[in-house]
Amino acid sequence: MSEIVHPTIKDGWFREISDMWPGQAMTLKVEKVLHHEKSKYQDVLLFKSTDYGTVLVLDNVIQCTERDEFSYQEMITHLAMNAHPNPENVLIIGGGDGGVLREVVKHSCVKTATLCDIDEAVIRLSKQYLPDMAVGFEHPKSKTIVGDGFAFMAEHTNEFDVIITDSSDPEGPAEALFQKPYFELLNNALKDGGVITTQGSENQWLHMPLITGLKKSCKEVFPTVEYAYTTIPTYPSGQIGFMVCCKDADRDVKKPLRTWTPEEEENLCKYYSKEIHEAAFVLPTFARKALR
Ligand code: SAM
Repeated sequence: MSEIVHPTIKDGWFREISDMWPGQAMTLKVEKVLHHEKSKYQDVLLFKSTDYGTVLVLDNVIQCTERDEFSYQEMITHLAMNAHPNPENVLIIGGGDGGVLREVVKHSCVKTATLCDIDEAVIRLSKQYLPDMAVGFEHPKSKTIVGDGFAFMAEHTNEFDVIITDSSDPEGPAEALFQKPYFELLNNALKDGGVITTQGSENQWLHMPLITGLKKSCKEVFPTVEYAYTTIPTYPSGQIGFMVCCKDADRDVKKPLRTWTPEEEENLCKYYSKEIHEAAFVLPTFARKALR
């Protein structure tokens, strides 16, 4: 079989070059290219790296690696889930690798966990190449829908306790998921007291204008809006942020309403803890000032 050639791979190294992080690029050493296809929506590449396990790349941007994905998946999920008193019906927009679904069903109060991703190829290939993430799809409470998240949201009112938007970056099929009309749909689809988290809050070192713009859009829709972040080596500059919003003006999303015991936490999580939950909202001075 002929070797798979991809423009991001040169001399055995994958290079993540993008205008979204000018003048810098994450590089990972490639052991083997596992799969490449152009799906209906995006360029999908999977390769085995020498040190980060299997890597999923969409439109030349790293989506997750087996070694550090837990930081992102746990934080985007449990920040929202534990800021809600009793999340029973949970929706994930995007998240086609299954990792957020895996985290959502760790909460025994959950009755339904619905995932809506636009691209069947991501779901199919994650099941094949990223089984530790895609395990979420097998859970009896999980339901998978292939479709556009924006269109899906427009059809649902007052249904969900928590909605997690685990999308790709704002260039490509996820563009609409970063704008005010989408936040209005989220607000409408949430029940009273509902909570959302959304990726797209990117990186404090690189994207402060994007983050402040996103916070402003969220604030026009939700009474409670806070920014949190996590550390993760394979996202640009080693961190990624989340907007955490609530329909309830009095809710302090920075403090978990529900907690696991330390033993449960250690069994269930590799990154998240109740201390990390609170710490994730503590920002460096330059970011705190910009987001004021
Ligand atoms: N954690 C990753 C990150 O921050 O880069 C995101 C991972 S997840 C694989 C991103 C998913 O969003 C992809 O599977 C993609 O197909 C999906 N997606 C992009 N636009 C979408 C849309 N409009 N509706 C639903 N899913 C969408």
